[in-house]
Amino acid sequence: MTATHAVTNQAAPYEDVDLWAANAALRDALAWHHPGHDRARMGALGRSAGSAALQQQARLAHLHRPALRTHDRFGRRVDQVEFHPGYHALMTHACQARLHGAPWREGPGGHLERAAGFMLATELEPAVLCPVSMSYAVVPSLRANPALEAAFGPGLAAAAYDPRFAPAAGKAGLTMGMGMTEKQGGSDVRANTTRAEPDGEDAWGQRFRLTGHKWFFSAPMCDAFLVLAHAPQGLSCFFLPRWRPDGEVNPIAIQRLKDKLGNHANASAEVEFDGTLAWLVGEAGRGVPQILAMGALTRLDCALGTAGLMRHALALALHHTAQRRAFGRRLVEHPLMLNVLADMALESEAATALALRLAAAVDATEHGRATRAGADLAHEAVMRRLLTPVAKFWVCKRGSLLAQEAMECVGGNGYVEEQGEGVMARIYREMPLNSIWEGAGNIMALDLLRALRGHDVAAAVAHECAAARGTHPAFDRALERVLHAVERGPDEAQARRLARETALLLQAAVLRRHAPEAVFDSFCASRLDGAADVFGLLGAGLPLEGLVTRALPSLAS
Ligand SMILES: Cc1cc2nc3c(=O)[nH]c(=O)nc-3n(C[C@H](O)[C@H](O)[C@H](O)COP(=O)(O)OP(=O)(O)OC[C@H]3O[C@@H](n4cnc5c(N)ncnc54)[C@H](O)[C@@H]3O)c2cc1C
Repeated sequence: MTATHAVTNQAAPYEDVDLWAANAALRDALAWHHPGHDRARMGALGRSAGSAALQQQARLAHLHRPALRTHDRFGRRVDQVEFHPGYHALMTHACQARLHGAPWREGPGGHLERAAGFMLATELEPAVLCPVSMSYAVVPSLRANPALEAAFGPGLAAAAYDPRFAPAAGKAGLTMGMGMTEKQGGSDVRANTTRAEPDGEDAWGQRFRLTGHKWFFSAPMCDAFLVLAHAPQGLSCFFLPRWRPDGEVNPIAIQRLKDKLGNHANASAEVEFDGTLAWLVGEAGRGVPQILAMGALTRLDCALGTAGLMRHALALALHHTAQRRAFGRRLVEHPLMLNVLADMALESEAATALALRLAAAVDATEHGRATRAGADLAHEAVMRRLLTPVAKFWVCKRGSLLAQEAMECVGGNGYVEEQGEGVMARIYREMPLNSIWEGAGNIMALDLLRALRGHDVAAAVAHECAAARGTHPAFDRALERVLHAVERGPDEAQARRLARETALLLQAAVLRRHAPEAVFDSFCASRLDGAADVFGLLGAGLPLEGLVTRALPSLAS
């Protein structure tokens, strides 16, 4: 067949890349928030996540979807999910990189390094990060039951992954998930119908028997879950293990796995509980705030994960356009393509900066001291509350748009999967998920309004923006608009508008701190007087080549 054509003008695979070294936006952001971060750790993670060997495992984990076994051949219930070895390789990588429960047992900066690592691991495979994220986010909620925290906390923090379906006490590493959503309500969890009947007390505290279902129950092979159910005192948060302390399997009937648009490597199940044992976590009747402490941290991960996916899509687009030639020169050399790439680079850097800013607020408030000198803890607490819905809302909304544009940069090849080799398609199908789960866009915008009620958000926004004020006229106009809207108070129908304007303003403020001046100026000029509807509308005079070169330094050669 070689006589018919030679394969020319196709890009080399994007693999064996040091994802940390290639990502100047992430490196600068982490260096600003946490000057003493562990460079060797980040470099090692960047190299492993970008390695051809692990990228191949990611392809296989995505291609060979998890399979449910409900019964054995004798008719006994089994309720187990089998994964491709690629999935286990990626889970091992993430747990060894301490991206799950480890930061809770580390010193200041642990959450920030973990956040940067989470973004890098997203460029490997985002779907397996669902159980990794839940195993990170659950720890503060679990502390409300010290006996359970003592039993499960060390396993959640261990730098080990143990895929065996076995009692937690004998495992090297543990993972946890969460179950809130039921058929009749996901956002409105107060509509939950699962019932919890008291069943005595033991070393893990008040024990209950649960009867009901969960309509979305991701990563069902986790060792335990936090779930919501109605106790006699009202909706409460429960710890539900897959194995009971007496060594018996806790009955969790996995009815089927969801047939999802993307997120293929991860299993998301529908489950039923019938006398399933669970232990109370926190105060009975206060289940929603108890489990939402976990939800707030998975929302952080939605922003981090989407920023990681955006970076991956951008890098693939840059990598391709730097090699592919059309009309006599490389695609990246065409002025209009340069504009599209530069605009996406701005978006990706702003998403990275905002997500890491939220992680910095989490790190500071958890440790009672900031990793960067001079940060004010009261201010960090308001920023954590404010940025959780704002970053989740805006970064996730922009992710899908960027994925579509990055795919277009790669042309027809971008749309082709070819046995999982087409990573751009995988990214595109993954993107909407972070926007939906853990609170869809409207729910985030409404949560922003709740944040306005309980905190002096105007003062916090003014403080956060103080260093950038007066440095760009569009920034000053945006600041006045946001302060005015915040002072006017909640207006439900305008909540998305406020979330968008607040996100853009705070993205600019944080870029002013740690991005080159050209990035800040270009961001303000292109975003703050009205967000553009498509990429590639950067105005004349903006440093397109510089923005693109920063996004993929290898282009400078
Ligand atoms: C792949 C996948 C995995 C998942 N894994 C889990 C899991 O492990 N555990 C778990 O508990 N859940 C999980 N979920 C469920 C997810 O969190 C919910 O789907 C999500 O919270 C939305 O709930 P819902 O589907 O019931 O939609 P609804 O609550 O019906 O919402 C539908 C739409 O209405 C909007 N809306 C709702 N209320 C209002 C309002 N007051 N004002 C304006 N708009 C409103 C929402 O923003 C949304 O756009 C998963 C979902 C997916 C897709």
